[in-house]
Amino acid sequence: MEITFRGRTAVVTGGAMGIGGATASRLAAAGATVAILDINAEAAGKKCGELRAAGARAEAIACDVGNAAEVERAVAEVVGRLGEISVLVSNAGIQRYGDVLSTSEPLWDEVLTTNLKSCFLVSKAVLPSMLRGGGGAIVAVGSVQSIAALGNAAAYVTAKHGLLGLVRSMALDYARRGIRVNCVLPGAIDTPMLRWAAGLDPHPERVIEVCHRMHALGRMGTAEEVADAIVYLASDRASFITGAALLVDGGMMVPAGGMGFSESGTGSGVK
Ligand code: NDP
Repeated sequence: MEITFRGRTAVVTGGAMGIGGATASRLAAAGATVAILDINAEAAGKKCGELRAAGARAEAIACDVGNAAEVERAVAEVVGRLGEISVLVSNAGIQRYGDVLSTSEPLWDEVLTTNLKSCFLVSKAVLPSMLRGGGGAIVAVGSVQSIAALGNAAAYVTAKHGLLGLVRSMALDYARRGIRVNCVLPGAIDTPMLRWAAGLDPHPERVIEVCHRMHALGRMGTAEEVADAIVYLASDRASFITGAALLVDGGMMVPAGGMGFSESGTGSGVK
C-alpha cells in the first residue's frame, strides 16, 4: 500500500526546521496539505514557500505552542483555511540543561511548557476537528530521554517522560473514536537544535564526535530518518498501531550500560 495523505490536512508544530521541517516536507510530498505552527515566523514562512514551490498546499502560522490562546487561534485558522485536521505532529521542543539544584523555576516551567504542556494544548485544540472529520493520527516527538536519562537535563528528561504518558493516555481515550496516538523516540539527530547545544561547549566538534559514537550504528541520525518514522506512524499503513513508542535511535538504547560498555568485560565489571 502506497503511503498517501491526499485530501488530508496535517499540522506540524515546530515545522520550520529540523525534524519538524523534514516531516512537513515528507507529508507534503505524500500529498498532504500542511500547516506549519512555529514560533519562528520567518523560518516557518521560508519553509512554507519551499513546500509551495514544490507544488504543495501549505500555510505557515506563527504560534507559541506553550500558549493556549495562541494555539486555539492558530488551530481555528488552520481549520478555517484548510479544512478539518486529520494528522497532528506534536514536535516543537527546546533543549535546556541543568540538574535540580541549577535549574531555576522559570527554566523548569519553560521546558515543561514547551516540551510537554504544548502537546496537551495542541491535541486539545485539534482533537475536536479530528473527531468531526471521522478520525486521525497524532504523532508526538519524544526522545530516548522519554525512557532513560542523560545527566544534567532534569527538566528535559521529566518533560519527555511525561510526554510518553500523555501519548499513552490519549491512545487509550480516543482509540474507539478513530484516533491513533503514537510517539517516536529519536537518538541524537543532526538538527539546528543539536548544533546549538554542541556550540555551548568550548569544543563543539568533540561533542559532535561523541554524538556520533553514542549510537550502535556509529553515527547520528538525520531529520529525514526521523520524519520517515513519523510519516509511517501517521499513515494508514500503521492502522493497527496505537500507544506505541518507536525508537529511532541507531541502536543507542541496545547495549546494557551504554555504548561505552558495549563489549562484555571491557570496563563494566559485568560479564
Ligand atoms: P530544532 O530547534 O532544530 O527545530 C525546532 C523548531 O521548533 C524551531 O523552528 C523552533 O523555533 C520551534 N520552536 C521552539 N519552541 C517553540 C514554541 N514554543 N512554539 C512553536 N515552535 C517552537 O529542533 P529539533 O528538530 O532538533 O527537535 C524537534 C523535536 O525533536 C523536539 O521536541 C526535540 O526535543 C526532539 N528531539 C530532538 C533530538 C535531536 O537530537 N535533535 C533528539 C531527540 C528528540 P526557534 O528556532 O525559534 O527555536
